[in-house]
Amino acid sequence: MIIKPKGTYDIYGSDAKYYNYINSLFSTIAEYYNYKFIRTPIFESSELFHRTVGETSDIVSKETYDFVDRGERNVTLRPEGTAGVVRSYIENKMYGEVNQPIKLYYSGPMYRYERPQAGRYREFTQFGVEVLGSDLPIQDAEVISLAYRVLEEMGIDNITVKINTLGDAESRVNYREALVKYLEPHINNLCPDCQNRFKTNPLRILDCKADKDSDILKNAPSILDYLNEESKNRFDKVLEYLTILDVDYELDSNIVRGLDYYNHTVFELVTDMPELGNASTLGAGGRYNNLVENLGGPSTPCVGWACGVDRLMIILKELNKDSEITDNVDVYVMAVNDEERLTAARLVQDLRWSELKVEYDTLDRGLKAQFKAADRINARLLVILNSEELNKGIITVKDNLTKEEVKIDENEIIDYIISNL
Ligand code: AMP
Repeated sequence: MIIKPKGTYDIYGSDAKYYNYINSLFSTIAEYYNYKFIRTPIFESSELFHRTVGETSDIVSKETYDFVDRGERNVTLRPEGTAGVVRSYIENKMYGEVNQPIKLYYSGPMYRYERPQAGRYREFTQFGVEVLGSDLPIQDAEVISLAYRVLEEMGIDNITVKINTLGDAESRVNYREALVKYLEPHINNLCPDCQNRFKTNPLRILDCKADKDSDILKNAPSILDYLNEESKNRFDKVLEYLTILDVDYELDSNIVRGLDYYNHTVFELVTDMPELGNASTLGAGGRYNNLVENLGGPSTPCVGWACGVDRLMIILKELNKDSEITDNVDVYVMAVNDEERLTAARLVQDLRWSELKVEYDTLDRGLKAQFKAADRINARLLVILNSEELNKGIITVKDNLTKEEVKIDENEIIDYIISNL
């Protein structure tokens, strides 16, 4: 037997129900906010991720699925969605479109060679948004509140937005200096990865999964004390808008995000469910005002986030959302011989095209087994076709809740069913 690759899983049965529910709720809400759908390739040239996600990030240095294709090109399975969207924005000159800013949403599989554990896979699904072309704090707040509302609409109550700012380049240089000075005497007490980060990208140490509970990190200086006036005012405005929009937030100066391209606002959406272990971050994002330019496009301020669908599936299951995400069948049509089956085939099609969810037997089961099958899928109305009655133009309909049976003229069957559901 051939088995699935490590860190992947099949989405079927009740998982499939959650998966579709999450994606469709997200796209419905994104459309209310007037975001447009974008789909970019699952593989891109490796250079794209090296130049955007960054050489020093864990994602690119240790976790990408890289390969050389048959045309000798270096390609990478995308580890996240932003780089592809930005590449597409530049390549398709979206900055020249009349309707600005460009507000996009996406959903699809991402690939990272991580150690698989609860809520962490090698193939996983993210949905996310990116707004390209707006620099105002109100845009940061809109983007964050959109994520917050999507999670809230799924029935997850205890969501907090942990938020920080990385400031502009000047603020970050000042902060970096202070941080390096503070960390220098402690560096040998941090993990080997952090010792490397100290040389390449010291801010990243704040975000270390291994050292996150260490007092060294807890007592580190906060970027908030090193912001220049402009960066501070901008951050204050974002928080003011979040308050207006009823988004629960918490300042957390240890949030720096694992990717190289962020500046100003950075945030994570977290929940405190024990089932997620140390994978309790549901979504994350921030502002990235330099990325478009770094990739050869015009200077364009951007902000966005991505949420993990797989973790949301775990939560919805835990919250027992099953009964709300119903896949009950409206009508089960019963037939046991060829004549009845001919009527059934047409009736089932007509009912389905009346936007009803309809099932019937294709296993040649007897009537008793068909009643059981209908019960198992919670069919609401049972249409019992019977040759003798059909010859008189009559069809029996049974309400599977009240158990009442009625005889209906076959010409009125569709109308009857629609008005009795
Ligand atoms: P990131 O792109 O690392 O900021 O991650 C954003 C969100 O994607 C996280 O909060 C998770 O919900 C989800 N995510 C990231 N990596 C994984 C993974 N390996 N498996 C499942 N979900 C993930």
